Amino acid sequence: MAEPASDTLCAICPALGSEVCSSCHGIRYCSKACQKVDWPVHKLLCKKFSKDFSNDKRPQQPEFQFKRAIYFPEEGNGPQYIWLPSSGPSDEGRAVAHTHILGLKNTDLYPIDYFKENAVLHRQIDGDIVLLARIHDLNTNEAMLFGNPNKSLAKIDKELTNYWKGPLLAYGARTDVGWPDQCYDLGPVDLRHVVDYLSVAHSKRSIEQNMYTIGDGEKTRGVRFNCVSDQQICQRTQFEPMDILKSVCDGESELKATVAEKAGFPLVFRKLTFALCWRSRSHQDFSYAENPSAAFFDPGTLLDTTWLDTALRFGNPTSAIDQQMKFAKQMGSLIVVRKDGEPLTPMLMKALTEYAQQKTNEAFESENEPHTLASQVLDSISPERFRKWYSDFLFGLCEDPSVGIHEIAALYDI
Ligand SMILES: [Zn+2]
Ligand SMILES: [Zn+2]
Repeated sequence: MAEPASDTLCAICPALGSEVCSSCHGIRYCSKACQKVDWPVHKLLCKKFSKDFSNDKRPQQPEFQFKRAIYFPEEGNGPQYIWLPSSGPSDEGRAVAHTHILGLKNTDLYPIDYFKENAVLHRQIDGDIVLLARIHDLNTNEAMLFGNPNKSLAKIDKELTNYWKGPLLAYGARTDVGWPDQCYDLGPVDLRHVVDYLSVAHSKRSIEQNMYTIGDGEKTRGVRFNCVSDQQICQRTQFEPMDILKSVCDGESELKATVAEKAGFPLVFRKLTFALCWRSRSHQDFSYAENPSAAFFDPGTLLDTTWLDTALRFGNPTSAIDQQMKFAKQMGSLIVVRKDGEPLTPMLMKALTEYAQQKTNEAFESENEPHTLASQVLDSISPERFRKWYSDFLFGLCEDPSVGIHEIAALYDI
């Protein structure tokens, strides 16, 4: 089945956008709820679109083509539309935008990236959006954004300015057509695409910094246990090694991890602040904070008898367990350390997670009384049994060509 065209979809979630903004007619939502999520961003350009940037206001000059672009002035009061003049294509085949009209030197802004997908929504967008920024030194690979924290972005979220410095400019370009049709107008929905792009880039770069990793205290090796959104949107692996302050080991765990305790590896879990790029989004059919694998660490909560009874009454326990994990465990990404302060490897975390899940599934398949399942899981686990299971797990990894031998060697050291 063909994907619905992106301009018929809700700007915030995967649903169809059956309602259109009554003020600018330039963006669609599935519901009032999604419109409300978008409003702090959309309101910044909604009225300007219909008032000063309608097609009949387009400047005409023979040597240039003017297209509606979105500019975030460094010292500005929010994003703004501009009519960006461009002339014929450059050597790379992309239209040359003339940014000197902004009062900046022509060379001051440089294309730092282009994107054709909204990573938060996993959705193709109409053309490419080219992003220009001021960067420090084009001759090194370590080109850095420089300037003051972008005040226009502070209007959207101050946190964005931790990473985004200096002015930013976004314009639409297509690579599949020749000049003069290459540039295209950006509109209200593109502001959302640009803000999502800037937020994802921010989340990718700032994710290592959190209250458990920054500080002067002694550190130990721990794991960042990424939720589904941090894996899919920010492209992080499920288990990431990370240096964590040892003081975390002494605190209370925010997630009960009875399986790990019974297996001989007491763990401490801490919840992390949700990533900026997805934290304000939610949808009735989908939660961005899902971390279903973490749910298996405490069968007592996962196999709660109240919902299990209900599920069995309706005859569909398997889908019920999915639902339980989806909606009861909105915990986002977690920091995990060993309570004894010893280093925790991503492989040991992966093993414990698979073990916990396997033991739960076995209990489920046993068709015992629902209220005995949680204790059945825990009774089947001991340090000796886990170690035996773990050596089989390692043996399986040795036969997996995608796993490096050095990764496996490190595992014996638990
Ligand atoms: Zn929606
Ligand atoms: Zn509007």
